[in-house]
Amino acid sequence: MTVQIIIKKAMKRLELEGKILTPDYYAEAFCKEAKNAGMNTQDCTHVEKFSKTLNKDIQKELKNYRIQSMDELTRFLISKLNRTSPTVCSEQLESQELLTKRILQVVEVLHNEQASELAQKSIVLLGSNPTTQELEQFRQHWIDFITTYDDNFLSKLSAFGEVDRRDLKKTIENLDTDVSTSNTDSNTDKNNSELVRVASLLVLSFVPSIASSVNDKIATLSEKIELNPALLDSASIEEEVRTIISLRIALDKKSVKKMVESIDGVLDKLSLRLIAMIEHSDDSTTEIQKIKSDLENYNDGSAANFKLSHKKLLGIATALEESTKTLTDDLKGHTKEVGLLSTKVKNLEKELEDAKQASKEDFLTKLYNKRALDEFMSVKESEFVRYGHNFSIVMFDLDHFKNVNDTYGHDAGDAVLAAFAKILKKATRSVDIIGRFGGEEFMALLSETGTKGGVDFAQKVRKHVQKARFMYKGQRIQVTVSCGVSERKKMSSLKNLITSSDECLYKAKKDGRNQVAYN
Ligand code: GH3
Ligand code: MG
Ligand code: MG
Repeated sequence: MTVQIIIKKAMKRLELEGKILTPDYYAEAFCKEAKNAGMNTQDCTHVEKFSKTLNKDIQKELKNYRIQSMDELTRFLISKLNRTSPTVCSEQLESQELLTKRILQVVEVLHNEQASELAQKSIVLLGSNPTTQELEQFRQHWIDFITTYDDNFLSKLSAFGEVDRRDLKKTIENLDTDVSTSNTDSNTDKNNSELVRVASLLVLSFVPSIASSVNDKIATLSEKIELNPALLDSASIEEEVRTIISLRIALDKKSVKKMVESIDGVLDKLSLRLIAMIEHSDDSTTEIQKIKSDLENYNDGSAANFKLSHKKLLGIATALEESTKTLTDDLKGHTKEVGLLSTKVKNLEKELEDAKQASKEDFLTKLYNKRALDEFMSVKESEFVRYGHNFSIVMFDLDHFKNVNDTYGHDAGDAVLAAFAKILKKATRSVDIIGRFGGEEFMALLSETGTKGGVDFAQKVRKHVQKARFMYKGQRIQVTVSCGVSERKKMSSLKNLITSSDECLYKAKKDGRNQVAYN
């Protein structure tokens, strides 16, 4: 692109932007178009070139002011030179620093420890060529001081005269005058100091001694009296003081009630545990008795001292706990022993059961029992099978025996069973076997005997029973017996033999009882 075209474009730009054709506007437009056309013209880079030679802060300022033309740059520099010539600037700074130091020296003597200390430090800082950050830090310290400064303490002086917050000296001097005047009147002086003393004592007495929180009303009145003890001289305050004292008592009472309730709760729990422990232990150990007497004595002591009571209760609780532990351990030991004993008993029961099993004797009648009868039957059966030795079974069943029990009682029934056994024993030979088959049923195994012999034997027994005088507690009990007889030879097996004798017995019953039926 030629220079002519750039010139043309620059003119057009000025026209579009509505700018008149001054040398500055033209130069600016020309440089912009030249830049767009990628042409590097020395005249357009002057500002940039000179800017770079200035220090960084001024370069920043140039950017902020958007200095683009040489003309602007020149005007900027002129104004800067006019405004802050180095001499004027440093002179100003120096005098400002001196003024600051003076102010700080004044602050130092203005009777405020915190301000004085900060002033001292600030003076040292100013003399040490501080950085901007250090200065900023101290400025913040001063801001902190002024925002937290509270001159309310001056109100305390209001009891002795008018307080002028702008003039402390005047205030104090006024107070001094008061003192000197009151010196002339020693009674007033005395009254004043007495009021102050009473006020502080009264305020102290407002603080609840047991309740932990201070009530707002109490706090307000306390402050009021502290600030102006002279109020105590007025009648109006009397009612307020009374109300506050009742309030204080109410607060304390409430706290005491709470404490007593909590201690009551602990004591209840302790006594319940103690009772439970005593109930569970065979004898009250000395340890438990000690705990008990501790609890009893608890009420005698100075119950008002809750800390002591609390400590005491803790002691009791600990002792109780230890004692419970000991008891629990004992119990555990006993449980083990009980466990061992129970195993022993179980073993003994089993042995007894085994012994019973092994026994062949019926405990009531002393005859053979069912087990023994079964064994003898199989022996007889073997003899029969092997040697052909015949044998008979006679089954006996007492008639209407249930009635005997129902009428005379079970013991009477037992006595009859025992008596029947004796009759049976008397009637049998030594080679014969007799036993109790179960309940009121008996069995006789007659060796080398057929049906006829069996029936004879059964009749003999039946008759004997009919005639016998079964006596129980002076009463005669009438008893009869039915019998069923069957012989082995007539049967095909032992099982059939037993069934057959049973069927015969059933027949005897059916036919009218007190009789013998046979096969
Ligand atoms: P039945 O003439 O038909 O044989 O009548 P029953 O009453 O004798 O027969 P049942 O089988 O109805 O009753 C038998 C009774 O024998 C009932 C039971 O209480 C009694 N008994 C069984 N064993 C004993 C015992 O060892 N002692 C006593 N006292 N009674 C027993
Ligand atoms: Mg029966
Ligand atoms: Mg019967």
